[in-house]
Amino acid sequence: MRSDLVKILACPDCGGELQLYAFNVKRIRNDYGEKKIVVEGILLCKKCSRWFPIIHGIPWLYPKNLRNRAIERDFLRRHTDKKIINEILLRELREQTKNEQ
Ligand SMILES: [Zn+2]
Repeated sequence: MRSDLVKILACPDCGGELQLYAFNVKRIRNDYGEKKIVVEGILLCKKCSRWFPIIHGIPWLYPKNLRNRAIERDFLRRHTDKKIINEILLRELREQTKNEQ
């Protein structure tokens, strides 16, 4: 996805603003200048803290009931070297533990 698109996208769950974390960026030059295309990364909701993966340039912006846990888990596993991913993993672990109590 084009990195400047983040300004017009919103969280499908709460409508909150999204923060972009780009892991893999491709630069494309045309007559209007240079555009940054995010190939891999995440969008994090500033309001409800939900996150969305960007895979092969496509943001997976699905509401909670339609999220694909298998794809998300696979994505997280591929990016455990990123600080933001570790923060997300820790948070999900904490939420899981809370739900089990
Ligand atoms: Zn949200």
